[in-house]
Amino acid sequence: MALPISTSTIELDRTGLTPRALIDPFARAITYLRVSVTDRCDFRCVYCMSEHMSFLPKADLLSLEELDRLCSAFVAKGVTKLRLTGGEPLVRRGIMTLVSSLSRHLKSGALNELTLTTNGSQLDKYAAELKGHGVERINVSMDTLDADKFRAITRWGDLAKVMAGIDAAQAAGLKIKINAVALKGVNDDEIAPMMEWAHGRGMDMTVIEVMPLGDVGEARLDQYLPLSMVRAKLADRYTLEDIDYRTGGPARYVHVKETGGRLGFITPMTHNFCETCNRVRITCTGTMYMCLGQDDAADLRTPLRASESDDLIHAALDEAITRKPKGHDFVIDRRRQKPALSRHMSVTGG
Ligand code: SAM
Ligand code: SF4
Repeated sequence: MALPISTSTIELDRTGLTPRALIDPFARAITYLRVSVTDRCDFRCVYCMSEHMSFLPKADLLSLEELDRLCSAFVAKGVTKLRLTGGEPLVRRGIMTLVSSLSRHLKSGALNELTLTTNGSQLDKYAAELKGHGVERINVSMDTLDADKFRAITRWGDLAKVMAGIDAAQAAGLKIKINAVALKGVNDDEIAPMMEWAHGRGMDMTVIEVMPLGDVGEARLDQYLPLSMVRAKLADRYTLEDIDYRTGGPARYVHVKETGGRLGFITPMTHNFCETCNRVRITCTGTMYMCLGQDDAADLRTPLRASESDDLIHAALDEAITRKPKGHDFVIDRRRQKPALSRHMSVTGG
């Protein structure tokens, strides 16, 4: 189900009639929150993590109750779409308690969508419960259909387990979008077959450009495949029709005439996708990043813990949003082999 941002709400917010809204200095209304509920994961994808990661001490994590309170404060400030991510959100202990409590905002109508991005490894266990709590669509990340290659990319992953998760999610009635990171020399030739497979199962698919986040022990230039090249190659075999379909995120979609399915492109590197940015991120320790690609951050844990009232959190959000930058400055080229940011994607939440 497409969940467009309600333009009427934005217009009202811009006129100041609803003081709840988070509007940044570039008049972008922030209606989408991504929450990294844990920095831990049961995979070690080569573009996301190094093989030997050190994770945050568990004592530093916000409790599930605190995460709920923080998310709810954002909802009170006009956020209508909430995505749980990580790390792997489904490895956070008690995660269904959080999903269950957040689902009250779906019931009240304050949230349009509660969703998650997952590597799929635990989906067979949780799919039915997610659906029961009002989750309608999920993103499953998968970069290949080849079991050996899957193991090589994820270092620890088991493709059969993820496939079982996808089966369970579809059986439970969840709509799935497959997210694949385009990796030079790794899955270039698989984008078309994966798309055919996804569309054949009634799933959308999105391809993503690799971003220079965190030291992963490999040169980014070796991984980076511009999506302009992926698209040009697909266009040799398929009829790609640009469509206006939006899911509230950064993907731009085409309708593929031959498969009848939708293919999205997320192009942080070749196209600046920042102009229409409507999102912010919080980490599992309560740090808010106003931009995935910048270091500036706001501490929300202190105001969260300082008072039982949410006034301090709301004030911190109002202040932080005035610092949301226009966009990121990612560059991957021969001179810049270093990560643009030292922070890994799994910390900020992809
Ligand atoms: N573990 C979950 C998963 O893999 O779906 C959620 C977190 S993961 C960080 C979210 C998304 O970010 C995944 O689709 C992953 O492929 C993508 N990702 C991770 N590191 C990335 C990078 N450096 N550049 C682009 N996408 C990346
Ligand atoms: Fe884990 Fe997702 Fe990062 Fe892969 S992309 S290591 S599954 S957080």
